Amino acid sequence: MNLYPVFIPPPALTVYQRLPKCNLHSHLEGSIRPQTFLELALMQNIPLPFDPTHVEKYFQVTGEEQNLTDYLHKIMVNYLILKDREALRRAAFEAAEDAHFDGVVYFELRAGPVNHVTSSFSVADCIESMLTGLQQAEAKYGIICRLILSGLRDHRPDANLDLARLAVRYADQGVVGFDLAGNENGFPAALHRAAFHSLRDSGLGITVHAGEAAGWKSVYYAVIEIGAQRIGHGVRSIESHEMMNILRDYQVLLEICPTSNVHTGTFPDIQTHPVKTLHDFGIPISIGDDDPITSRTRVSNELTLLEGTFGFTLEDIIAIQLTSLKHSFLRESDLKTRLRQEIDAYRP
Ligand SMILES: [Zn+2]
Repeated sequence: MNLYPVFIPPPALTVYQRLPKCNLHSHLEGSIRPQTFLELALMQNIPLPFDPTHVEKYFQVTGEEQNLTDYLHKIMVNYLILKDREALRRAAFEAAEDAHFDGVVYFELRAGPVNHVTSSFSVADCIESMLTGLQQAEAKYGIICRLILSGLRDHRPDANLDLARLAVRYADQGVVGFDLAGNENGFPAALHRAAFHSLRDSGLGITVHAGEAAGWKSVYYAVIEIGAQRIGHGVRSIESHEMMNILRDYQVLLEICPTSNVHTGTFPDIQTHPVKTLHDFGIPISIGDDDPITSRTRVSNELTLLEGTFGFTLEDIIAIQLTSLKHSFLRESDLKTRLRQEIDAYRP
């Protein structure tokens, strides 16, 4: 009988975990560790809406989801605990920490603060708490973190206008962009034109979730009418050759999150995902994890998937990181140069 504990060496990091990476598309609300949810619920005296012994299945994709609503419900359960300074700080810190452990060196986290306000916790409190968490991760790990504020399509236009104005106010404190997320069908981006107008000359980047649930015309509107420099997903641009030409000619980057697109039913499986076609056409792309806890994925995992499914080479993947950095909303050119050198140094 062996009385000594067996030492199991940790698995070696894969090539894509070691590669310095840029993640431009990741939501705070899909990044809450289940254990953190339980601890924050306890701290806030929030009764659990489920059996805590099977906590993961309430947060994460299990394969039993029938539709997008089921998927979104797993994200929205986190709204219950994202209600005070400590919760928002910790959630942002841990999202950046998890990204760091996956080898991400530049991280743009996004969140919809309006969903988290209470009578004693304002939108500004929420933004400041997340910025504190990101700054703490940056100080501890060296990962460069920036914040994108997401307006929601089904929120009131004046709420999104107020949020855009707050984004401008926090532009020199780590907020680098404004996003529009949520239900594409029934809530066109045109409703929120005023919010985007208010960002003109602010120096903030504009990205819009489009071409995921709705078709290519939603992408067209975001690019041509709103002036989005990047599109969240945008994968249904594949339905229009004209749209693909526009994205390539204007060099509008698509923030592609392959696993998420399968989980939300945009494509039935990874084999039918158009990421390779869009990339080979000359459209700039980045690869994000969208909702890493919900979808049980990481950027390195997505890159491994691209290699295994579509034959992307390490050279292709490094080029995608450099493209992502170029299209990032990071303002400081010295930091961009340093990150570019760090990624470049990984070339075989
Ligand atoms: Zn997203």
